[in-house]
Amino acid sequence: MGKNTNSGSKREMCSFCGRSKKQYEVFVEGPGEVFICPECVDLCSTIIRQEQKRGRSKAISGEVPRPRGIKEFLDEYVIGQEEAKKKISVAVHNHYKRLVHTESEDNDIEIEKSNILLIGPTGSGKTLLARTLARMLKVPFAICDATTVTEAGYVGEDVENFLLRLLQNADFDIEAAQRGIVYVDEIDKIGKTNQNVSITRDVSGEGVQQALLKMLEGTIANVPPQGGRKHPEQAYIQIDTSHILFICGGTFIGLENIVKKRLGRRMIGFGSEQSGREDKKTDYSSVIKQVTPEDVIEYGMIPEFVGRLPIITTLTSLDEKALVRILTEPKNALVRQYQRLFEMENAKLEFTDAALKLLAKKAMVRDTGARALRAIMEDLMVELMYRLPEEPKLGHYLITPDVVEGRVDLFAQNGKIKESA
Ligand code: ADP
Repeated sequence: MGKNTNSGSKREMCSFCGRSKKQYEVFVEGPGEVFICPECVDLCSTIIRQEQKRGRSKAISGEVPRPRGIKEFLDEYVIGQEEAKKKISVAVHNHYKRLVHTESEDNDIEIEKSNILLIGPTGSGKTLLARTLARMLKVPFAICDATTVTEAGYVGEDVENFLLRLLQNADFDIEAAQRGIVYVDEIDKIGKTNQNVSITRDVSGEGVQQALLKMLEGTIANVPPQGGRKHPEQAYIQIDTSHILFICGGTFIGLENIVKKRLGRRMIGFGSEQSGREDKKTDYSSVIKQVTPEDVIEYGMIPEFVGRLPIITTLTSLDEKALVRILTEPKNALVRQYQRLFEMENAKLEFTDAALKLLAKKAMVRDTGARALRAIMEDLMVELMYRLPEEPKLGHYLITPDVVEGRVDLFAQNGKIKESA
């Protein structure tokens, strides 16, 4: 097979569509006077991509991943949060079992959809869990923010835009999108008792919950392909949401007080001798673990909405030890990423344990969980990455607490532990 760019004879035309070679700069020739034009090559590759995608979505419905397998995959990316990982693994296993079940003939017992509610502080891994899950299942994934949605009549988005995002991430493959995962963040902010000062948004939040409700339980949604608000003349793409897994996440600040109140007398004395910041966090974690759907309803979510999220699981705040692990252990850990960047310059980068601890400690102060780690690492590394390519002789660099604090220049003699890599 060869690329044939000479001016062609009469017979030289695309064996697929019959167009003449003359119309094209490039024409691909196969053995035995077979030709294909660039347009047919494009078309073929689209067909192949679509078929592969279809094959992938069939694979999901064919073999249901086991909870242990799902959890082990999550372990590679998400540190700690054991209970949440276990609960999610089972929920997802059941979700896909349900898909297979509905597709088979024998479906007299309807297995309920296992949408998930994740409750946990900022930066504890809620989004990461949902994202990792989508990566494992090789399904389209979209992250959406509940606070951008408003009830009809107010300025803002319609809930259908969540599905549009999913569809875009699935390259407009509707079948794939219908088996995807949607993560809805800040779900606690649409609680109806929430004091809402925004004038552009549905004031009670209840209408938004109602709108989401239908999507969560499964409906044929009309998705405006251009996004924005729906209007009557528009053509819609119809998406069936009954097989889409919805994972809702929120920090639910103050929910622990509702749980405490319900637990009542049993809680008296709990934490009374604890006053440190660390202790408060453990207090929060152990209380929030006992949350029930009723507590979430009291917080301001409407009962029907909570009913559509049968799996409720909590994430705990991450302590210093967990943050150190997050820096180094996940497959795409920040330390590993920077080490790779240094390697690309033929240099070696290492961190002392004390330096890692110090970075974690600095992140703890910001109180945004593991989210702060990235910012702190970036602050530290940007200067180093800026100067690294200018180093006359590259070597082996060690980040110590002094380097983290800026007391020692990494590129000065002290920071460098070996002259050559
Ligand atoms: P949130 O709970 O606010 O949704 P995210 O999942 O967005 O938090 O976390 C922000 C970032 O912090 C993630 O991209 C990830 O790098 C890191 N992170 C948070 N929690 C964990 C965790 N348990 N294990 C590993 N990394 C984490």
